[in-house]
Amino acid sequence: MAAPDTSSKTAAEWKAIICTHIDALADELIGLSHDIHAHPELAFEEHHASAVLTASLAAHGLSPQHPAFGLATSFVARAGDIGPNVVICCEYDALPGIGHGCGHNIIGTAGLGAGLALASVAQAIGGRVTILGTPAEEGGLGKVRLLEAGAFADADVAMMVHPEPANVEIAPYLANDQVTVTMSGKAAHASSSPWAGVNALDALVLGYTGMLALKATLRSDERLHGIITNGGDVDNVIPAVATGVFRVRAKNARRLSGLKDRLTACFEGAAAQIGARCELSWRGPMQDVRANTVLAAAFRRNGESLDRVFLDPKSIPYDVAGSTDMGNVSYAVPSIHPVIDVGALVGGHTVEMTAASIARGGDAAVIDGAKMLAMTAIDVWLDSGLLEAARAEFARLSL
Ligand SMILES: [Zn+2]
Ligand SMILES: [Zn+2]
Repeated sequence: MAAPDTSSKTAAEWKAIICTHIDALADELIGLSHDIHAHPELAFEEHHASAVLTASLAAHGLSPQHPAFGLATSFVARAGDIGPNVVICCEYDALPGIGHGCGHNIIGTAGLGAGLALASVAQAIGGRVTILGTPAEEGGLGKVRLLEAGAFADADVAMMVHPEPANVEIAPYLANDQVTVTMSGKAAHASSSPWAGVNALDALVLGYTGMLALKATLRSDERLHGIITNGGDVDNVIPAVATGVFRVRAKNARRLSGLKDRLTACFEGAAAQIGARCELSWRGPMQDVRANTVLAAAFRRNGESLDRVFLDPKSIPYDVAGSTDMGNVSYAVPSIHPVIDVGALVGGHTVEMTAASIARGGDAAVIDGAKMLAMTAIDVWLDSGLLEAARAEFARLSL
């Protein structure tokens, strides 16, 4: 195999080549984005999306593995033999009821476009790219499963881009965990022998009320919210079992742990008052995103080269923060999770975002997102100083 010849072209010339490549793919990428949008699939059920994305990878000469890493709807394709390995994460799961209200059709196809463009020049430049299908971002901790299965083991950096109503290279994301609370009491006739029962619903509601009291004390970078999923079967029987699902979010893992303890005390205290038993089953924590500022700055420069205007990350308050399983990746590998403007002032997880994800601004985000990711990967491949700086920051923050 011939040694890569990177001396013949500058980074700017390689970026121009991959942008032209992505423009040539535009109809296919946007077509796939709309196709995935028209077939919304929930976490771990993304059979259509993972199939059409891998079909495209194969049609362009790559050899995707699908399924991958023990997940039926994950896939992986690789290109290049030497040099830094850039992992591009493709999400494509949807939400119940509102379909692609988080715009993951854009994430999957922007990642595909970046991956295809990078694959076409990886050998020549001497870089490696991994296009990774990451299912179940919405509550399924898909990337945590992928991390555990070794999907990021040989990654030098990991990146993706998420649609939002603005361009920002670093947006705040909260650490979070989810708990299922099961209160167990004793059934009894609600009229003729209520004294013989232990009302599990009362215990749960008392715990919920405690959560509301806690909520009044939260900072802007903390959240408590949830629903009661089972309040009993019939109104004239004291409920023997009641369940609820609750989410705790905080700025970082340490603060999350403290808030989890306080919520636990609410439900355990409520159970003690009623004489019920309380069981809390935690799903496992999702970490905040520790965005690599070196990679994020490169992403921003590349976005600005496409005439995208970025907000100052410091201007984005925690009040608008959600969470993502990319957070766990960001603590394992230097990572970025920048957001790209869909051209409409719409919030995530809304029907308005569902519509924006296939409108003109959403389609533009597919193409520009692909270019911004690919150009940033070119920087990682060609600018050893940038990669060293990204690694040094990651190492310093990991101490
Ligand atoms: Zn979402
Ligand atoms: Zn999302």
